[in-house]
Amino acid sequence: MRVFKFGGASVKNAEAVKNVGNVLKVFGGEEVLVVVSAMGKTTNSLELLAQAYFKNDPSKYTLFKEVKKIHDEIISGLLITKESQTYTDIENLFIELDCELENVADSNFDKVYDQIVSYGELFSSKILSAYLNESGIKNRWMDAQNFISTDNTYREGKIDWEYTQLLISKKLKPIVKKQMVVTQGFIGKNKDNFTVTLGREGSDYSAAIFAFGLDAEQVTIWKDVAGVMNADPKKHEDAIKIDAISYPSAIEMAYYGATVIHPKTIQPLQSKKIPLFVKSFLDPTADGTIVGIEKDAENLPPTIISKSNQALISISSKDFSFIVEDNLSNIFTVFAALKVKINLMQNSAISFIVCLDNETHKIDKLLKNLGNAYNLSIKEGLELLTISNYTENSLKKLLDGKHILIEQKTEKNIQVVV
Ligand code: ASP
Ligand code: MG
Repeated sequence: MRVFKFGGASVKNAEAVKNVGNVLKVFGGEEVLVVVSAMGKTTNSLELLAQAYFKNDPSKYTLFKEVKKIHDEIISGLLITKESQTYTDIENLFIELDCELENVADSNFDKVYDQIVSYGELFSSKILSAYLNESGIKNRWMDAQNFISTDNTYREGKIDWEYTQLLISKKLKPIVKKQMVVTQGFIGKNKDNFTVTLGREGSDYSAAIFAFGLDAEQVTIWKDVAGVMNADPKKHEDAIKIDAISYPSAIEMAYYGATVIHPKTIQPLQSKKIPLFVKSFLDPTADGTIVGIEKDAENLPPTIISKSNQALISISSKDFSFIVEDNLSNIFTVFAALKVKINLMQNSAISFIVCLDNETHKIDKLLKNLGNAYNLSIKEGLELLTISNYTENSLKKLLDGKHILIEQKTEKNIQVVV
């Protein structure tokens, strides 16, 4: 059994969808589960729609029309038969969303967000499934929400692994054994029957969850890049593809910001030793990268991961107390309550410094919550660089002329905020 994941770029227009068809004609075959993301930038558009709907702003109607128009163009580019049941199904989905916009929105924005934004994956999977069926690649559309069970953490659903595994292995697996199944990435459902999304770019994670539950032989993430690169080719012209990498190294890379794989993807695969291939849908016969080899090559090139738009917050106590256990525990409690992720931290006797993604709404709340007890200062517009397998030479070259604000170094990795 194999799981194929196609991201937004791979289905951004009719040509792209046709290309997915071609990839599946060659590489598909028996026992394949296809996981697809929303088309192109649909999720961004639906985020705006969710905000407008939540505020009951009349722009919701225009935003809805824009989303519909993009999908209509793709549907007509694919020549999906208007009389078919699948065409009606797609139309009905749009009517459903349109009607939902007339309701008074729930007071929990994150919940509203998930109910609206999840339509992106429903549209794309319906369209892809219909197109594939009409072009002879017989498949069955299934709703991922039937199988992926989460808690109530809207926008960042936590998986109920036991129940999800049971649903996938008992209910989905027999179907995939019989025919290709097309389903959605990014979405699941909680016990109250509401949609819960798994976090932005979470479709890779969905593919891993399905592979875990199916005990799949392998997962392939089809991308518009050749594979996992040692650096962002847009920033480093000498970037090269890594042919093979171990699970731990891939986890580190994804965690520190390599956008090629969603950070949560690898561990479920690692736990069942399911290899992950990252391949180009533009050059599908090329080798790509395999994630999951036993041991990284000795001569792995330095990998350079950059996270931009970082903020550095320095926290010191107002009552002259040292920043030790008590204070750290207070500070961490606030971070956890606000779901703020720390990218790098450093502490000294009198201060605690954290590097975070500069998300204004979260940082404002953080400053408010910590402001009573602590003196805070913030520096914005920074970059976090994570370099693994570095050599002194490569560091010199990469950091030359950069003003380093904090640095953390182990034998294998170095992280700097510049
Ligand atoms: N469509 C979602 C997003 O853009 C999930 C994904 O693409 O993986 O965040
Ligand atoms: Mg996407």
